[in-house]
Amino acid sequence: MKFKLKIIWYYLNLIARGKFSSEEKLRVYQNKQLKKFQENVLSKSAYYKKYNQLNTSNWSEIPIISKPEFMSNFDAINTCGINLSEALELAIQSENTRDFKSEINGITVGLSTGTSGKRGVFLVSETERAKWVALVMQRVIQIKLFKRQKVAFFLRANSNLYSSVNSLLFEFKYFDIFKNKDELLKELEVFQPDILASQPSYLMEIAKAKCNQTIKISPTQIISFAEVLDEADKQFIKQVFPVQLSEVYQCTEGFLGCTCEHGTMHLNEDLVIIEKEWIDVTKFYPIITDFSRESQPIVRYRLNDVLEVKKDKCTCGSAFISIEKIIGREDDVLELSGVKIYPDLLSRKIALSTDHFTRYTIVQKSATLLEIGIECESKDFEKACKSFKNCISDYFTTLGISGFSLEFKNEIELIPGNKLRKIKKLSDEN
Ligand SMILES: [Zn+2]
Repeated sequence: MKFKLKIIWYYLNLIARGKFSSEEKLRVYQNKQLKKFQENVLSKSAYYKKYNQLNTSNWSEIPIISKPEFMSNFDAINTCGINLSEALELAIQSENTRDFKSEINGITVGLSTGTSGKRGVFLVSETERAKWVALVMQRVIQIKLFKRQKVAFFLRANSNLYSSVNSLLFEFKYFDIFKNKDELLKELEVFQPDILASQPSYLMEIAKAKCNQTIKISPTQIISFAEVLDEADKQFIKQVFPVQLSEVYQCTEGFLGCTCEHGTMHLNEDLVIIEKEWIDVTKFYPIITDFSRESQPIVRYRLNDVLEVKKDKCTCGSAFISIEKIIGREDDVLELSGVKIYPDLLSRKIALSTDHFTRYTIVQKSATLLEIGIECESKDFEKACKSFKNCISDYFTTLGISGFSLEFKNEIELIPGNKLRKIKKLSDEN
């Protein structure tokens, strides 16, 4: 089947399937899909073949894996006979040349640095690409039948996954965030997107440029993906662009969720089974099994994102799990005096107490030391330090943390193209 026909086929399937409003029906559907996944995909994976009695009752026999085990068993897990060194070489080459048409036997190979900065490789078949596009069309993008929508996509790397979507309905333009920012903003203004999709740190740059009237654009939808969008940034973006703001929870391991029309993040449980490794009564690490994948099965794969469940059911009526927020990654959770400090909660405290900065970073350098980088005019630096110090000390006192020190500097380290992580533990960079 031709690629575009495949997209239409999967898109119509999603529309026909409709919304799951009953949890019972959702579980029945998942079990059916799981069975198919076992027969059609896992049977081709040397690593997973032995679990051929896979069903919900003996599910737990399958080992839970995370990125390191997944990469070290890459050759046995994938169903395309591709080996890691060959894939890695190709992925690095295309990243360096910025030519993203790398394929092995018709399978797209991409490099993922992930949020942890450790590199990995992902494989995507043409069918998987078509499914991805159909899903984005159905769940994220507002489709207008009589107007071709221009979509500006800010990415650190392009891949066939994204560039192959130009069609009657959409015109995609890819903006390489490794390029000079001023040039990109100019290009964006010339393009005049209807839909603007980017990671939040770059959305903030664009929103600021619009705010200072450096650029004039009027998108009708904003899509935020790849990093956690924190509340303060969200409010600012919404203020500058008072249009629909959709958040997509997408990582190398798949398109895991997005916000519904009522603004709640739902995980795509019609594609992914989510097991929860609870941290406390509301927070968990997701363990995912994605039965929409075929080239590289994702089975009981533990992500190190911390998700918080929404207590009340969403008013949209979806049976898919509702997420209050993506709190951040395990690696970004600071720990002082044995107490965990979640980045989202800390950044919210800071947003509420001060705005004497353009941007900031907080890096945990040792068991007791936090280094705080504040981007602001030098005349405001002292005032900013004071606000940060008061806010952090007050918050830590309420958490029962004592015996810590704070170090300040009037700059932040920004690596072009890298995801901006406001709050992080240094150990994870090594
Ligand atoms: Zn909803």
